[in-house]
Amino acid sequence: MNSVELSLDEIYQLAFDCLKRAGADDANADAVADTVKRAERDGSVSHGLFRIPGYVATLNSGKVNGNADPQPEQVTPAMVRCHGQNGHAPLALARCIEMLAQSAKTCGIAALSLTHSHHFAALWPETEALAERGLVGFACVSYTPMVAPTGGTEALFGTNPISFAWPRQDHPPFVFDMATAAMAMGEVQLAARDGHQVPLGTGLGPEGELTTDPKEILKGVLLPFGGHKGSAISLMVELMAGPMVGEGFSFEAAESNNDDGGPPQGGEFILAIDPKIMGGENCVEHAEKMFSKLQGIDGVRLPGERRHKLRQDTGPRKVNSELISKLRALAQNSQ
Ligand code: NDP
Repeated sequence: MNSVELSLDEIYQLAFDCLKRAGADDANADAVADTVKRAERDGSVSHGLFRIPGYVATLNSGKVNGNADPQPEQVTPAMVRCHGQNGHAPLALARCIEMLAQSAKTCGIAALSLTHSHHFAALWPETEALAERGLVGFACVSYTPMVAPTGGTEALFGTNPISFAWPRQDHPPFVFDMATAAMAMGEVQLAARDGHQVPLGTGLGPEGELTTDPKEILKGVLLPFGGHKGSAISLMVELMAGPMVGEGFSFEAAESNNDDGGPPQGGEFILAIDPKIMGGENCVEHAEKMFSKLQGIDGVRLPGERRHKLRQDTGPRKVNSELISKLRALAQNSQ
C-alpha cells in the first residue's frame, strides 16, 4: 500500500475541511473530525479517514443534517433520551455522555436512547468515555442488512457492533468493541482494496458459497461471528438498538435509505452502571485480580490494549495515498 504520513492534527483538519465543504456546521464537523482523528490515532483505520467519503456522501445527498443540534433530555432520573435530528452520531454522543454518566452515578444504573442518528464510527469512544468516569459501559447499534442469520444466505442483520468498557485502577479501561459479523464490513472493504484474503467463515459469495475472497463477499453476504451464538447476539442488537430505543430494525433502515454510501438512520442503546454502587466499594479493585491473572498468561492480551499502546505514539500516521488524494479533492471542492 502506498501511503503518506499525516500528523494527528493534519488528519483532524483534513476531515474537518471535507465535512465543512459538504455543508456541516462547525460543531458537527468538529465532532466527526475528532472521532476520525481518534480512530486513526488508535489504529481503528476502518473508522478513520476511510469513512470520510461516506460521511460526505450523506451530507451531499441531504440524508444527514450537517446542522443538527441534538439536545439530550432527562426523561426519568435513570433514563436519558436524545433525538439526533438526523445528524451524524458523534455530536449527539458528545452531548449525551456526561448526562448519562451523572444519571448512573445518581441511580446506580442509567440508559441512553439515541434515535434519528447516523452512526458510522467505532463504539469504543462512547463506552470508554463512561469507563473513564468510573462507570461500566455497554453500547450497541444496528446498521443496514449485511449479515445472514445462521442457516440463511440472505442479509437480514446489520454488522451490529457491541462494545463494553470496565474502569480500571491506574490503567486505561478494559474495552472491547466488535462487530457481531465475523468481520466488520469496513475491514472486508479494506481487504478487498489492499488485495488480502479473509478467513473462511467471514462471508458467502453471491451464490451462497463460502469464500476467502473479500471481493466475492462484497457481492454476497457476511456471516455472524461464532455461528448461531453470534447470530443470537446480533438479533439482540437489532432489538436493543431498534424497538427498545424507539427506532427501526436494520431492514427497516434500509427501506428508507437512499444508498448514498453512508450510514442509514438508526438508533443506539447505551447502558451505564456505577460498579461501586452495584458491587460495593471494592468492586473495581477486585476486578484487577482477573486482569492480572489474564495478563499473566503467555500469549494473552486484553482487548483494547493494542489501541491504548498505539495511542501513546503521538507522531504521524501512515494513510493510504489514494485516499488522501481523494480527500484533498473533496476538501478543496468545498472552498
Ligand atoms: P476486531 O475483530 O478487530 O476487534 C474486536 C475486539 O477484539 C477489539 O476490542 C480488539 O481490541 C479485540 N481483539 C482483537 N484481537 C485480539 C486479541 N488477539 N486478543 C485480545 N483481544 C483482541 O473488531 P471488528 O472488526 O469486529 O470491529 C471493528 C470496528 O468496527 C469496531 O470498532 C466496531 O464498533 C466498528 N463497527 C461499527 C459499525 C457501525 O455501524 N457504526 C458496524 C460494525 C462495526 P483491540 O482494539 O485492542 O485490538
